[in-house]
Formats: sequence, structure tokens, C-alpha cells
Amino acid sequence: MNYAYGLKVMLQRTTLPDKSCPFCGNGNTATIGSKFGVVLLRRCSVCGLMFRWPKDSVSANQMYYNGRFSQVHCDDIRLMPPKTGQRLEELKSADFLQVKDIRRPLEIFQAYVGEGSKVLDFGCSWGYLTWRLRKLGYNAVGYDIDANRVAFGVEKLGIPLTADRQAV
Ligand SMILES: [Zn+2]
Repeated sequence: MNYAYGLKVMLQRTTLPDKSCPFCGNGNTATIGSKFGVVLLRRCSVCGLMFRWPKDSVSANQMYYNGRFSQVHCDDIRLMPPKTGQRLEELKSADFLQVKDIRRPLEIFQAYVGEGSKVLDFGCSWGYLTWRLRKLGYNAVGYDIDANRVAFGVEKLGIPLTADRQAV
């Protein structure tokens, strides 16, 4: 953990004591782990969500994911979407394996989740997995906080993604 991040977390702990569930708002959450003694992993007793504490505010997350995070400029296909339509077609024809080889996890997923099932890809980024799941016959939709990535998936891959959490 770098010094600036550690300092930020320590400040958050003193100024943002809210330990409620960031998804359902339930106040009954418990610590189930910790990292470096300052960042805690907590679990909600109602919905089961596990989350990092101290939490970042919704507005801080919006600023981060729609700002610096989505404006990384490089040619690494894992960090940036393809720049040309031809490159995108190459990636699609190989099921995005160059981005991440998820064949084994998908085999396991398919063994447990029947074809045609409704699937939410929460944190879908550009939508590569949502696209792959739809190709495999799942009724998959994606959500991501980053509106730029969602726009890419909707426009370039033609898949149903949204950046509106209320819509999922
Ligand atoms: Zn909850």
C-alpha cells in the first residue's frame, strides 16, 4: 500500500464512519477480514454483499470511473478498447481471448447455468463478457459505472449495457 493511499484511508476512517451496506443500505454489517490493518472487508447481513470499508462515496466513484480511469491512453487491449473496426472484428472472431482467456471459467459457468438464463454482468466494463455470454445463448445484460465503457459496448458491440444502477 503506498503512503498516499494509506493516508487517504486513515482520513476516511476518521471522517466517514458509515458502515452501512452500499447496496441495500442495511446498517447491520460485520468485518470478515482486513488488509494492512486499515482496510476492512465487511459483509452485509441482509443481502450478503461484501464490500471494502472505508467506502468511497457514490459521487467519488462516479468522478473516478468517468474521469482518469476511463481516459487511460495506451495500446494495451486489456486497458483500452480497440481503435479500429478491423481490430474489433479480430477480437470478436477470437471471442476476446486476447483480452482475457476465460474459457475454463465459462465452461464451469455453463455446467451450472442453463442456456437462455438471464444473467447480469455487474461491472461489465466494455461488455466483452456480456457479448460472449449472449453469443453462448444467455439472456445477458451488463451494468458498469463507467458511462464511456457502456457507450462503447452499446454502440460497437450492439449489446444491452447500462450505466444506470437503478435500471438493473
Ligand atoms: Zn446489503
